[in-house]
Amino acid sequence: MNRIITLCTIMLIAALLVPFPVIAAKKGAGAFNGDTSSGRRTSAVLGEMKHWSTPDYTRISLELDRDTTWEVHELGGGSSRKPGRIYIDLKRTRMGSGVKDITIGDGLLKGARVGQYRPDVVRVVLDVENIKDYKVFPLSDPARLVIDVRGERPAEISRLEPTISASPDKSSIIKREEKGAVAEKKLKLPRKVNISKIRRIVVDPGHGGHDPGAVGQNGTQEKDVVLAIGLKLRDLLKEELGVDVVMTRSADVFIPLEERTAIANKVGADLFVSVHANAAANRAVSGIETYYLNLAKTDKVARLAAKENGTSLEKVSVLQAILFDLMANYKLNDSARLADEVQKTLHRKIKDTYADVKNHGVKQGPFYVLVGASMPSILVETAFVSNPQEEARLKEAPYQDMTAEGICEGIRSYINGLK
Ligand SMILES: [Zn+2]
Repeated sequence: MNRIITLCTIMLIAALLVPFPVIAAKKGAGAFNGDTSSGRRTSAVLGEMKHWSTPDYTRISLELDRDTTWEVHELGGGSSRKPGRIYIDLKRTRMGSGVKDITIGDGLLKGARVGQYRPDVVRVVLDVENIKDYKVFPLSDPARLVIDVRGERPAEISRLEPTISASPDKSSIIKREEKGAVAEKKLKLPRKVNISKIRRIVVDPGHGGHDPGAVGQNGTQEKDVVLAIGLKLRDLLKEELGVDVVMTRSADVFIPLEERTAIANKVGADLFVSVHANAAANRAVSGIETYYLNLAKTDKVARLAAKENGTSLEKVSVLQAILFDLMANYKLNDSARLADEVQKTLHRKIKDTYADVKNHGVKQGPFYVLVGASMPSILVETAFVSNPQEEARLKEAPYQDMTAEGICEGIRSYINGLK
């Protein structure tokens, strides 16, 4: 009940604060720049329709070659008040040759159909099976429209109480049940006590492939150092905490931001940790900071979010405007606590060797990669690759080890705090 009230309050606040609430709402219209009056522009092309799906959650990404405007409509689902069909009209858009209907059949959506409804309108129809909620929101550079669909069963219950789920990912559940059963027997704890609330962690090394991330003056690329740290973190989490770890990438490949969160939701992760290296125009700036998802409180943070999102400051303000609505499922308090623990232990760890390391603390920002995550999720800016001294450190294996250890210790403190 409490949760319902909180949700309603958030929606109310969102309705009061958001200047154009329809942009990410259910029925309504939206534009990538918040302006629907674009006159002389050429058509966008819908190049691909991708999806990631679980029994709790489905994300569909409509990939476009430029920003466009859209409208969302619902058609009734018989006796219930829920929609039987949701359709999205992409204005001034043509269908690319590679776009095909997709069959989903995950219990939430039967599938998604796509067609050139009018010469300048592409219509995407979602055939609904049984859903609780959905959100439509834009991401930019490249332009894509993301549709997040959530199911009836709360994600928490489906993850922690696998026996009650209807038709979930069986292999992972069996694995977890076995693991849980053994641990519980050993410690002779009553069944109700959840000794391992955190069983699976997704580690997300930022950028990759054609996206180098920030680049230092000596050519160090963020994508390489955060991959090295991420892989070390994976090994530590497995060894030290005995958790299952899923990497969004374990090689130098490009993974779109919306796919990273989708992976975390798809594998039923209990925590999501995105690892990055910072950059600033002023090369003297150095230090560590950790973020969770929320509105940017300063221009500096908004600029960093634009950089990490691979987009402009203007597009970040579009995301800011719709963020309240998108955050309905975000574990805000848990994410803040996870960020706090990780920032504290990471700074302490580095400070042991480099006494002068700056602690910029925990901050909030609108990072694409955290949008839609159903578990506590943070983004760690491990050091400034733009600072020559930290650039040199970031390349060294001992520093990477230290960083991975600091993050791992923070996650351990967070888990211990749950007990
Ligand atoms: Zn980054």
